[in-house]
Amino acid sequence: MRKRIEDYNKTLPILEVYRCVQSEGSRIGRPTIAVRTTGCTHRCYFGEGGWCDSWYTSIHPEKGIFTFNDIIKIYDENPHVKEMMLTGGSPTMHPALINEITHFAHERNIIITIETEGSAFVETDYPINLLSISPKFSNSVPVEGAVTPAGKIVDEKFIKIHNRKRLNTEAIKQMIKFHSDYHYKPVWDGTKGNLKEIEDYRIELDIPKTKTFIMPAGDNREQLIKMYPIVFNMCAEHGYNMTGRDHIIAFNQERMV
Ligand code: SF4
Repeated sequence: MRKRIEDYNKTLPILEVYRCVQSEGSRIGRPTIAVRTTGCTHRCYFGEGGWCDSWYTSIHPEKGIFTFNDIIKIYDENPHVKEMMLTGGSPTMHPALINEITHFAHERNIIITIETEGSAFVETDYPINLLSISPKFSNSVPVEGAVTPAGKIVDEKFIKIHNRKRLNTEAIKQMIKFHSDYHYKPVWDGTKGNLKEIEDYRIELDIPKTKTFIMPAGDNREQLIKMYPIVFNMCAEHGYNMTGRDHIIAFNQERMV
């Protein structure tokens, strides 16, 4: 028997619940409800691209503040929304919550997209509709001496934590096999080395280019505007799908958009 959430009034590791428009990947443009969990297996640092854009859920995780009833409430208030973006942090750290969400989504005909870096395999009573898989490559590894958003200095232990579950290929394969559908959504930093890692991994996992959505690196409007034409041209040349990060173009670094 898979674990479920019994107390709908209990505070869960959920930091944000809000209505928005999906702006990444194969379900782009659809109104959705974002449910952001807190806690992550990784500590991504992209050099000039900066720290993880949701560092408050990963590197310095804040405590959850929402209950399961809060998820129900926002769907009751927005009956036209039939999608959910389950994001983090790393939502797969919370299997009971994910499983409970699949029951709720099944009852209400809601399509779930789960964003995952692929660190863990999670089974659910109803398969998740779409896995949005963004494995973290070597350009995500923090460098010793870098300073985190809250002022911590990166040391060897910090780097080890990041690498412990990075590129957990077995878990990614199991996720793809168990759940309904997936896309591969790697972030590209514009370098040849990173593109090679993205392509090698695509081939290793036997992922078709039609299911591959390359996303520009950058957590602010200025960086993305610089990266967009580079990613457009590369995707046109190599036959990948391009996905932007249009919520950042629209709202820059605002949270809950
Ligand atoms: S896996 Fe995602 S949420 Fe976790 S640190 Fe990396 S970018 Fe942030």
